[in-house]
Amino acid sequence: MAILEEPIKEVLELKNYINGEWVESKSDQVLDTMNPDTQEPLAKVPMSTRDEVNAAVAAAKEAFPEWRQTTPLARARCLFRLKELLEENFEELSRVQTQEHGKTIDESRGETRRGIEMVEVATGIPSLMMGYNLEDIASGIDEYVIYQPLGVFAHIAPFNFPFMVPLWFSPFAMATGNTFVVKPSPRDPISQAKLAELIDEAGFPPGVYNVVNGGADAALMLCEHPDIKGVTFVGTTKIGKEIVYKKCGEHGKRAIIQTSAKNFLVVMPDANIEATIPALMTSFFGNTGQRCLSGANLVIVGKDDAFYKKVLAAFVDTASKIRVGYGLDESTQMGPMQSVDGKERALGYIEKGLEEGANLILDGRRPKIMGDYPDTCFLGPSVFEGVTPEMTIGREEIFGPVASVMRVESLDEAIKLANSSKYGNADSIFTASGKTAREFQYRIESGNVGINIGIVAPMAFFPFGGMKDSFFGVLHGQGRDAVRFFTESKVVIQRWL
Ligand code: NAD
Repeated sequence: MAILEEPIKEVLELKNYINGEWVESKSDQVLDTMNPDTQEPLAKVPMSTRDEVNAAVAAAKEAFPEWRQTTPLARARCLFRLKELLEENFEELSRVQTQEHGKTIDESRGETRRGIEMVEVATGIPSLMMGYNLEDIASGIDEYVIYQPLGVFAHIAPFNFPFMVPLWFSPFAMATGNTFVVKPSPRDPISQAKLAELIDEAGFPPGVYNVVNGGADAALMLCEHPDIKGVTFVGTTKIGKEIVYKKCGEHGKRAIIQTSAKNFLVVMPDANIEATIPALMTSFFGNTGQRCLSGANLVIVGKDDAFYKKVLAAFVDTASKIRVGYGLDESTQMGPMQSVDGKERALGYIEKGLEEGANLILDGRRPKIMGDYPDTCFLGPSVFEGVTPEMTIGREEIFGPVASVMRVESLDEAIKLANSSKYGNADSIFTASGKTAREFQYRIESGNVGINIGIVAPMAFFPFGGMKDSFFGVLHGQGRDAVRFFTESKVVIQRWL
């Protein structure tokens, strides 16, 4: 199959998008965004200064009063125009994601589709934002609740879904009448620049949506800024819990903090193996294992050795055939890791697994790469057998294509094993029994539960968030939770004499 055309042909000098204008940063700190496949630079990303972050927040603050007075229907019309532009640019947006992130073009197309769905759902804002009322709470007195926007919100984005993750929040924030500042991951910020171009074209008033590039410093400035009402953060638990959530608390901001994961996929003895193996492949190795919803620990249940061996053999055999290569090559099934650092980190975990006595039965450290690419970020699927929950690879998030296989005798043991993790983002069970599935769903400590599903990605009209060390806050991203997060309820009690 063909290698698709690269949309970015020369190194971009990224600007900030503030008050409807593309503004050059004055920062002397600039990072390179690299194409993970070729290790060629794609963009220069400025680490914006305090003045630039302040300018973005000031623009958003100034735009707020008029935007909140724009009717919900008129705000929805802007989102309808954006949706049309996203559809028109679907293929280019997807290719940009592949070029800057490395994921396969089909994975990027899936990401673009998911992002568009957020915009589609947010267009329903006139209904989604409705309050409720009751006549005659006392004689001749009525009471009602209205939902109002609060002002400026910020989003601090991770690298693994450079286009979609900010869209878990921004369409809902803007639809409800707030204004927004997004800080993309400096590792792959181009998708957000492309999105801002389309938001601009869609006719949102200046200042309603702003992009400020940067790293930790810019993120902290947003968390501490007195004019920001709330922050949505997606990234590691280390940064989300220890820094961003604390800062938001200190500065009185509401927060949605979606963080790291260690997901368990449980295969029961009655599972349909033919249907389960492909689901496991996408879960463990899709997006090169760089999803918060990726499978990490494969738990095979039962006393029957033959069943265990059959599942393991099918899992390893199918994983060993995954074609690793350039994401824009349509025959590639797994792209590279997004960065050299990410690859080194995963390799470190593989070493740790070997040191701690796990058995590496599929070694993806030096994969065969399709095509002529430097071996900088590529990894193949790796599978460890005999992993225990005490081992580092059984406990910590690797965020790469490394599967840890564990074996237990019963459903009860499998649930206890999964619940012993400090994380609780997404766990799945594969079974033919409704009773087993229900018990799993009832007891598992996880925000997203899969039943014969390997990647539990909630649709845009459902909330998305984990439990335990995978989530901090109360309301989740997406859907009605997001509408509620981005609004304040106000109660009115009225009597007309
Ligand atoms: P990260 O924590 O390294 O970075 C996330 C963001 O925080 C980036 O914008 C970064 O610039 C900023 N940042 C970095 N240091 C900071 C600091 N000291 N103070 C404030 N901000 C700082 O995360 P990442 O590596 O980009 O993303 C991968 C992680 O995200 C994984 O752990 C993954 O599980 C998680 N994730 C979770 C979800 C979810 O829904 N739970 C979804 C996607 C990704």
